[in-house]
Amino acid sequence: MAPTPRRPHALHPSLRTILCVSAHPDDNEFTIAGSVAAWARDGRDVVFCLVTSGGAGTNEHTPRSDGLVPLRERECWEAARILGVKDVVFLRYQDGVVEPTLGLRRDLTRVIRRHKPDVVVCGDPTVRWYGNEYLNHPDHRAVGSAALDAVFPSAETGSIFPELLAEDLEPHKVREVLLSGANSPDTWIDISDTLELKCAALKAHVSQVGSGPWVDTLLREWAARAGKRAAIPYAEAYRRMVLARGD
Ligand SMILES: [Zn+2]
Repeated sequence: MAPTPRRPHALHPSLRTILCVSAHPDDNEFTIAGSVAAWARDGRDVVFCLVTSGGAGTNEHTPRSDGLVPLRERECWEAARILGVKDVVFLRYQDGVVEPTLGLRRDLTRVIRRHKPDVVVCGDPTVRWYGNEYLNHPDHRAVGSAALDAVFPSAETGSIFPELLAEDLEPHKVREVLLSGANSPDTWIDISDTLELKCAALKAHVSQVGSGPWVDTLLREWAARAGKRAAIPYAEAYRRMVLARGD
């Protein structure tokens, strides 16, 4: 017997602020941008935090990539504008060599306490590869790991990183976490109405993807594959953690 399809998930109305933490300027557009556009349309505040500015994003610019960083930050701002994102924070770590250090955990804790998100979205740090053709980038794993460690326990515990209290950044409890790229997703967000915006946002990263129709083809294929599990045309898949029950 075929398994019963899952229903698409809608964030609880009380979850107003969403922080999306990623390694590279185009990561959100490849993975979660359909959900982001839907949340922004709902009137929720979405903030992007990019740990690197993507200075290693092409071999054309190595070994010097000074010109690439401002270009990629501009492309990221344009994608954010298309999606309705309220703010973009760049931590400007070096692209390609990110590690889940205490320093990164502290920086992400600072961002969480400053923006007070109800939901944090990040990549699943436990995934080493997808299928037989794609090794997950170590920056993705490092950022996902540091983001989860920032969500719990350091964002909500004042005695961890006391220097943040000196910056008037009080402890903050994140209520939900959505992990993208998880091998065992359990939550599907309907992006049927925002897939076009997702494609347009990814195409804002001209230095990385050009503007070819392959972008639409690829994202449509991924969204249809994810949607099959929830019996909806187009979806993005997550593993959802509920850390504090809402109203
Ligand atoms: Zn990436």
